Amino acid sequence: MAANGARVLVLERDRSFKDRVRGQFLTSWGWPRRHLGIYDLLIGSVAHQVGWADFYAGTTLTMHRDVIATTPHQLPCLAFYHPAMQELLLGAAAEAGARVRRGAAVHDVQPGAPAIVVLGENGRTEEVRARLLVGADRRSSQIRACTGFEVRRDPDGNLIAGVLMDDIRAPEAIAQLVVHSELGQQAVIFPQGEGRARTYFCCHNTHPRHNGADDRPR
Ligand SMILES: Cc1cc2nc3c(=O)[nH]c(=O)nc-3n(C[C@H](O)[C@H](O)[C@H](O)COP(=O)(O)OP(=O)(O)OC[C@H]3O[C@@H](n4cnc5c(N)ncnc54)[C@H](O)[C@@H]3O)c2cc1C
Repeated sequence: MAANGARVLVLERDRSFKDRVRGQFLTSWGWPRRHLGIYDLLIGSVAHQVGWADFYAGTTLTMHRDVIATTPHQLPCLAFYHPAMQELLLGAAAEAGARVRRGAAVHDVQPGAPAIVVLGENGRTEEVRARLLVGADRRSSQIRACTGFEVRRDPDGNLIAGVLMDDIRAPEAIAQLVVHSELGQQAVIFPQGEGRARTYFCCHNTHPRHNGADDRPR
């Protein structure tokens, strides 16, 4: 929008980003990200290309999929460290002409024409007005709460826990997904290059939670 002449303000509460164990694998069938120019930005910098996906049922390899050859846009999947992606995209927004304010937290939103956003930065409160407001502020979105959108969701069924591993001896061009249907469990390895990989463990929510460093051995 900024590149096309709109006056854009980006408010980001965090001054620096930390690992949040999520959002690090873009599958190759997500056309909009290419359309938005995000794909090319990622592939030219922080992203590691993953051209294959191996699916296992227990220890049996059931599919060795060439994602470039078998997807409509013939692109690899991309894996990256989430905070690096966040920095890259905020930088790109600024370069396109948006004003990016780090450490500026939205406290309240009043819908209207224009909408009013109340924000806090360095202990000071301020109001800004906008014709269009985009809320991308996570699952517990404050903007959604302030603007009265109704949330409908299925009951929680599954849990997902993740760790970031260094010096992992797994193929760097293959995402591996291992399903154990009898136990209702799945393990996933998304390589990020240079021996690093995000690994996930997924299970039913009847299983004890894995949370924090103390649970890492489990
Ligand atoms: C375990 C797990 C694994 C996942 N893996 C993947 C994956 O591999 N690939 C994938 O595509 N998706 C994945 N997802 C989903 C993905 O992470 C989310 O869909 C995505 O991050 C949501 O984007 P968002 O911009 O709404 O929120 P977020 O990514 O949470 O970003 C919100 C931003 O808004 C800022 N913010 C929040 N509140 C305020 C405020 N009041 N004022 C100012 N700034 C604020 C935050 O600091 C943050 O930077 C995963 C999710 C989970 C839980």
